[in-house]
Amino acid sequence: MDVGLEGGFVALADQRQTIAAQGGTLEAVLTAIAEEVPRLGRRIFTAYGALASELDVRVNGVDARLLGGLGAVLRYGDHVSLAPYPLRPLTPRQAERYARQMILGEVGAAGQARLAAARVAVIGAGGLGAPAATYLAAAGVGQLVIVDGDRVERSNLHRQPVHRDADVGRPKAESAADSLRALNPDIEVSAVSEFLTAQNALDILQGCDVIVNGSDNFPTRYLVSDAAVLLGRPLVDASILRFEGRLAVYLPRQGCYRCLFPEPPPPGSVPSCAEAGVIGALGGQMGSMQALEAIKLITGAGESLGGRMLVYDALTGEQRRFSLTLDPQCAVCGDPPRQTELIDYEAFCGVLGPQQAEEGLGISVPEALALRADPRVQWLDVRAGGALDRPTIPGALRLPLEELGRGEALDGQRPVVVFCEIGRRSMLAAERLSRHGIRARSLEGGIVAWTAAGLDLSS
Ligand SMILES: [Zn+2]
Repeated sequence: MDVGLEGGFVALADQRQTIAAQGGTLEAVLTAIAEEVPRLGRRIFTAYGALASELDVRVNGVDARLLGGLGAVLRYGDHVSLAPYPLRPLTPRQAERYARQMILGEVGAAGQARLAAARVAVIGAGGLGAPAATYLAAAGVGQLVIVDGDRVERSNLHRQPVHRDADVGRPKAESAADSLRALNPDIEVSAVSEFLTAQNALDILQGCDVIVNGSDNFPTRYLVSDAAVLLGRPLVDASILRFEGRLAVYLPRQGCYRCLFPEPPPPGSVPSCAEAGVIGALGGQMGSMQALEAIKLITGAGESLGGRMLVYDALTGEQRRFSLTLDPQCAVCGDPPRQTELIDYEAFCGVLGPQQAEEGLGISVPEALALRADPRVQWLDVRAGGALDRPTIPGALRLPLEELGRGEALDGQRPVVVFCEIGRRSMLAAERLSRHGIRARSLEGGIVAWTAAGLDLSS
């Protein structure tokens, strides 16, 4: 590829405006350039081989630090540009405010300028979003977008100290924004008092350099992850439950939440904080770590957690780290992706809205039994692959939910009764089939209810 040179770098390269270099990562490409033009190499790399802080390196116009720095994955047709980073002087108040972090070599004046120029979205002003946004605001991130459609409840305050007792009843995004503006009048905070949806997500997140997810439900988690992939921006994701916290950073082209969890868990199978409880200080811990990872991405300091997940057990104080593997077949970040736009995440996660529940996708055992005589009805067992050799309802097609797709293996003209062990996976399957125009009902209570009614299975 041709790497474009801008500003003072053109003179360093004997007036060349582009240099050809090949490589699958930014490191390979920049190393090739540094070897060809050593004078430029000294402006690209530090003595320790890191990206020089006063280097502005962009891939398709996006700061390469946000894509994983030297580890950024390059593809055929990408445009890489190099220029000196334009430093703007700080006011005396700013210099005083940020003095303690600017003396860190990894931040410095260039890192502070990058923070000031950055725009970060924080999804949820709750247990994670509140501390994350607080530290991002305090560090001088120039623009913060706080997205939350909820109102402050008194039961939030033990873990969301960005809100005060007097804020109970106010929209959370506004309450958080006021608090952050009071903390740092230097920055711009926008409050979006709406829930993130497939309809508004791309508009709200467009132009954000980093997306920090502090939401606590699966539909939003999938939505935010898919939106980050579509927008090509890094996602700093975290979750907390009881005494356990998880933190993961997904860099563009280097995996996403869907690579790990292609299918959501059955609705109701993972308890919420409201059901299972959570300790407030854990949110403070994980939210602060989210802020830290976002600051590292923006400034290029250290090594990002990109491609890894950190699990923190607050009861023992132990941390474990796991590598995340990119799934080349991932529906969203695979090459080529099968899904190129946002979908209905409530439906995808099997969280039925009131309207869908009214449509009644469930079918009771007696109702299903009455359909046994109808030869048009297709019977479908969607239990996991491990149940393939277990007895099932006679005549049923076996197709684990994970392999169901859009129901291509079914006759789309004929109705389907879907079942699984207890009726949760089958509800997801019925919902998905319905979305693809197949008339599907989910057997309530599944195989367990079927056998409890004294009905036979066959192997
Ligand atoms: Zn993926």
